[in-house]
Order: sequence, then structure tokens, then C-alpha cells
Amino acid sequence: MICFSLVNFNGSTWPLRTTDSSPVPSPLPPKYLPPKYRTMPSRLFKCIPFLHPKPHPFPLSHLTTMSTKTKTRLRGVVFDMDGTLTVPVIDFSSMYKAVLGETEYRRIRQENPSGIDILHLIESWSPDEQRKANEIILDFERLGRERLQIMPGAAELCGFLDSKKIRRGLITRNVKEAVDLYHQRFEIVFSPALSREFRPYKPDPAPLLHICSTWDVQPNEVMMVGDSLKDDVACGKRAGAFTCLLDEKGRYGSADFTELDLEPDFKVASLAEVHSLLETNFDLMP
Ligand SMILES: [Mg+2]
Repeated sequence: MICFSLVNFNGSTWPLRTTDSSPVPSPLPPKYLPPKYRTMPSRLFKCIPFLHPKPHPFPLSHLTTMSTKTKTRLRGVVFDMDGTLTVPVIDFSSMYKAVLGETEYRRIRQENPSGIDILHLIESWSPDEQRKANEIILDFERLGRERLQIMPGAAELCGFLDSKKIRRGLITRNVKEAVDLYHQRFEIVFSPALSREFRPYKPDPAPLLHICSTWDVQPNEVMMVGDSLKDDVACGKRAGAFTCLLDEKGRYGSADFTELDLEPDFKVASLAEVHSLLETNFDLMP
């Protein structure tokens, strides 16, 4: 068992994940670490605020393998689009209210506090109801395309990945037209780039597994980055990939992770932090 861990600003380590199904162990005190790893810049800690909420007992025999020198190979990064590679502009609450009606929206929202999966929800509707709902959703998405803005840090992060020859993919629940516009406007191309024409869509792991297969890499050599716990992190975890939750506004806390039983491997507040996170924790080898 190899445990991937991080060094906190005060020198203690927090394990993130293990290479097999072994339980994630509890944090190591600084004294067990090689001297060079006993202190780290506070900047690094800010990149990795996700800590395992329930540490497990950690036998001393594992200390030799629990070193920050042990890095896992990462060969590709797959991004969500809306709210991750683009500044969030689609007002999803208004979209859901327009599709469901105010009363039904409130009822469903109450039953699903973590968020509404509108695409799956309307699949059970009659063809006529589905057509009307899709028209509303497409109108909101069209408006989003008109206001399209690249997320700060996206171009720099993609440039960094290109410099390391690390593959870049994209999975979105938006339509192909939106992906084409992104590629065209910002001249940053992701391949494969799967839109909602690819079924089943997130949170199903199928699109991520499809990308891994296309790249001929294993899911555990890939990281899924996205701003949705229930879609992006769920998709990544179900596929067996590393996951990074982009949480710009601090929307998510440990209670959300517990509620959905979904714990991202990393949580960042900006794409700039993904850059340092990748360099610190992974061997970036194509
Ligand atoms: Mg998103």
C-alpha cells in the first residue's frame, strides 16, 4: 500500500488516498518526516484544504512508504466546461424554475438539496413536455454562449499542461455547439471533448472512461477537474480517477461531502491552484 500524502504548513502530513483499497490513514506528525519536508509554504496548504474527516489508525510499519517523495503518475486532465473553463454565467436556478414551475421547483429542490439533475429529470416526461423543457434549457444555454468568458487561469493551466505534454480532455452536459464555440473563440482545443450528445452523461463515469480508453491510459492516471460535486466529482470517482473540486466561492464543506458520500481528492478556489497542486503531488509524465 502506498499512501499519497501532503505536508501541511506546520509540517504535519495529511494522507489523501492510497493505491489500493487500504483505509486512508491518520495524519503523520512532522517528526516522522525527512527534514526537508517538515516545513512547507502556507501557499501550498491553501491549495489543499480538503482533509479526510475520519482518519483511521495508522500502523508505524507504513511510515517508510508514506513519503511525499512518492508521487503517482498523471497522464491526463479532464475538465468540466461551464463554471470551470468558463466563468459561470448560466443562471441554473432560473432555468430550473422556468422548466419546472416555481412550486415544483421548490418541492424538488427540497428533496435534492445538493442540486437538481434537470436533464435526467425530464427524461421521464412525455415527448411534448420534454420538447418544451429542452427549448427552455437551450434558450438559457444560448444566452450563456452570448456571455461566454474564459475562466481566469484556464489558458495558463492549459499552456502548462501542454508544456508537459499532458493530455487535455473535456466533458460537459452542455451541447456540442457550446464546446465548438469555446474551441473557436479561445483557440484552446480539448480532445476528446464530449458534450451531452454523448450518452450517458455525467455523473455517469462513461464519458470519462471513454476518454481514458481513447487516450489508452488508466483512469487512475487521470484527474477530473470541475465545479460540481454531484456531477464532476461523482463522475471522476466512479471512473476511478483523481478528482479536484473547483470551489471559487466556498460553497462546499465537509457536510456536503458526507451527505453525498463524495469526497474530492483535492479542493481548490481557482484554476491557478490546480497548477501548483499538479506539480506538487504528481509526476506529470505523458
Ligand atoms: Mg460546471
